[in-house]
Amino acid sequence: MKKEEYRFPLEEYISSRDFKRIKSFSRDKETPLLIVDVEKIGNIYDQITENMPFVKIYYAVKANPMDEVITILRDRGSNFDVATIYEVDQLLRLGIEPERISYGNTIKKEKDIAYAYEKGIRLFVTDSDNDLKKLARNAPGSRVFFRVLTESDGADWPLSRKFGAHPDIIYKLILKSHSLGLEPYGLSFHVGSQQRDIGQWDNALSKCKYLFTAAAEKGIQLKMINLGGGFPAKYLSPANELETYAHEIYRFLQEDFGEDLPEIIIEPGRSLTADAGIIVSEIVLISKKSRLNQYKWVYLDIGKFGGLIETLDECIKYPIYCEKKGYAEEVILAGPTCDSMDILYEDHKYTFPHTMKEGNRVYIFTTGAYTQSYCSVAFNGFPPLKAYVI
Ligand SMILES: *Cc1c(COP(=O)(O)O)cnc(C)c1O
Repeated sequence: MKKEEYRFPLEEYISSRDFKRIKSFSRDKETPLLIVDVEKIGNIYDQITENMPFVKIYYAVKANPMDEVITILRDRGSNFDVATIYEVDQLLRLGIEPERISYGNTIKKEKDIAYAYEKGIRLFVTDSDNDLKKLARNAPGSRVFFRVLTESDGADWPLSRKFGAHPDIIYKLILKSHSLGLEPYGLSFHVGSQQRDIGQWDNALSKCKYLFTAAAEKGIQLKMINLGGGFPAKYLSPANELETYAHEIYRFLQEDFGEDLPEIIIEPGRSLTADAGIIVSEIVLISKKSRLNQYKWVYLDIGKFGGLIETLDECIKYPIYCEKKGYAEEVILAGPTCDSMDILYEDHKYTFPHTMKEGNRVYIFTTGAYTQSYCSVAFNGFPPLKAYVI
């Protein structure tokens, strides 16, 4: 087999100046750790508003709930999408007005709705009859938007099946909400996270158009469409630039609604924060399972339970860089815990330089979203992923 030099397109993910900064910041710190560049998140926010001047942004807090991330977005004027009263409390503590908060979880306890309402939140999502009744009892007069079921085809991290309902059910809920004293305000959907097929927004929007028309025929004028998340971050599988998403989605909107667009909301999580995070990890062990097996196993000090759960089924493929020279060797990557499910990549073969050694550091890019907030508390005694901002 011909030996090729190990290569990694570092400059696609970070400037050499910033990379030096990351290295010197992390040099004397214990791994694994996550470093989040909050200024970069601010820049991405600005890029979104430049490319999509027709939207109002509600940051999906779950992607990265660090106070510093929330604060920088707060200061940029962002609104926020929350899933729980704990996120509500955090945002209020950070001085965010309840008018800037949307309760975007279709699965809510009755007492949590009452709590959010008491705190001043007046915008809620729903997708079921029972939840709608809970809202009517505990959040009277609030604006309600209805989550439409969509397929997640084309998404690297699907969000289908669990959320949303068929347009026929949504139609009934819209009419009912009106008679229950709520304000039927708009529609929402989520085409799946890291959605690389922009056409999925077109499919979802045609369902919205149908429901806008059907509701109007009953005298209910819906006012808002929430396009959800699904916008891309920079992983190994290529996706279009945000500019292309913005351009195409605007075209779909115009096809359905003309110049007179309803209020348009987006709820970016991943696309706002992922590119701003880097995990620094260390190679704990390199081994071979049998003499003739061609692949080495490389065990890192971070795995599925330490923050890389999105490697499930190898859905999300993080760019991983080992800073050594040598020829490229295909390896199987795994985490450090005593659970055999804690294998990161086995089908997709990552290459590392043949000179890599235990104790070498690797840099995992695009890890600012769904890493720290997803990691277990102390499985095997490993502490939760430490995160720093720079
Ligand atoms: C998770 C979530 C988002 C964020 O999606 P991304 O693909 O990470 O941008 C947005 N809206 C809702 C309702 C969500 O649950």
